[in-house]
Amino acid sequence: MLDVLIIGSGPAGLSAAIYAKRAELSVTVLEKLYLGLGQITESGKVDNYLGMPGMSGYDMGEAFRNHAVSFGVDFKEGEAAAVEKTEDGFAVTLADGEILTAKSVIYAAGAAHRHLGIPGEEEFSGRGVSYCAVCDGAFYRGKDVAVAGGGNTALDDALYLSELCGKVYLIHRREEFRGAAATLAKLKGKENVEILAPAVIKAVTGEKKVSGIVLLDGRELSVSGLFVAVGMMPQAALLSGLVELDASGYVVADETGKTSLPGFFVAGDVRTKKLRQVVTAAADGANAAVAAAEYLREG
Ligand code: NAP
Repeated sequence: MLDVLIIGSGPAGLSAAIYAKRAELSVTVLEKLYLGLGQITESGKVDNYLGMPGMSGYDMGEAFRNHAVSFGVDFKEGEAAAVEKTEDGFAVTLADGEILTAKSVIYAAGAAHRHLGIPGEEEFSGRGVSYCAVCDGAFYRGKDVAVAGGGNTALDDALYLSELCGKVYLIHRREEFRGAAATLAKLKGKENVEILAPAVIKAVTGEKKVSGIVLLDGRELSVSGLFVAVGMMPQAALLSGLVELDASGYVVADETGKTSLPGFFVAGDVRTKKLRQVVTAAADGANAAVAAAEYLREG
C-alpha cells in the first residue's frame, strides 16, 4: 500500500509528488494520459511563472515532469473511475478495473475549460483562441480581441484586456450578465470596449491564425484573438458523496488542501480557490503533500 497516491500529473500533482518524495513517502502519480502534463499545455506561452518568462506551456509541463522523474517519482497511466474510503486508507478503481490502494490521496485532477464547440475553435486553439486572458493577454497588446462569456471571468478578462488591447468586444449570449454589476459598469465606461449582448459566436476564422469571428446574425468582426471564458468544469464528479463539493462542483478545501474527509487532500484547479494559475497550483501541491505527510505521521 502506497503512502500517497497522487491523482493528476499537472503542476499541482507534480509539485505534490516532489514534496512527498522529499518527505520520504512512497508515492505514485496517476496520469490520465501517458506523459500527460495537464491544462498547462493549452497555453502557448507562460509569461507569469517566476523565473521562466516566455516558456511554452508544453515545455514548462515537461520541465515539471522531468523534475519529478529526477526525484524518482513513479508514474502510472490510468484514469481514476471511483474512489472509496477503506478501513486503512483508500481504494482507487481505474477505468480498466485495476485497483490501487494508498494510505492517503492527493487529488489534483484539475478543471477543464468549457469550450464553445464552434468551427475554428479547436483549429485555432493556441493560435488566437485562448482560454486564459491572464496567461495570454500580453501577446495581444495593441490588437483587437473578443471575449466570449457573461460571468465574472469574462467580465474580469474583458477589463484586463481593455488595458492592453486595442478594441475589446465582450460577447454574451444573453442580455443579462451573471458577472458583477460593478465590473459591467466599469466596462461600459471604457471607450475601447463594445458589449454585444445578446450575440452568439458562430465560427472563428483565419488562415494560419485567427483573423476574425462570425456571429449568428451574420456580422463579422475582425479580431486577432478570441478569449473563451464560458466557465470551467472541475474534474471532480467521481468524488460526489465522498467529499464536500461546492455548488459549482469544486472540492471544498482549506489552505493546506485538507478536505472534509481525513486523509484525502486536494490541490490545484479542482479545489475551491480564487486564482487558478500554475503558480497557485504548484503551491497547492506543496501544501497538500506537507499536510499528507503530517496526517501519515500522526496516524
Ligand atoms: P460562470 O459564472 O459559469 O459563467 C459562464 C458564462 O459563460 C455564463 O455567462 C454563460 O452564459 C456562458 N456560457 C456557458 N456556456 C456557453 C456557451 N456554450 N456559449 C456561450 N456562452 C456560454 O463561469 P465563470 O465566469 O468562469 O465563473 C466561475 C465562478 O468563479 C463563478 O462563481 C464566478 O463568480 C467566480 N469568479 C469570480 C471572480 C471574482 O470574484 N472576481 C472572477 C472569476 C470567477 P449564461 O449566463 O447564459 O448561462
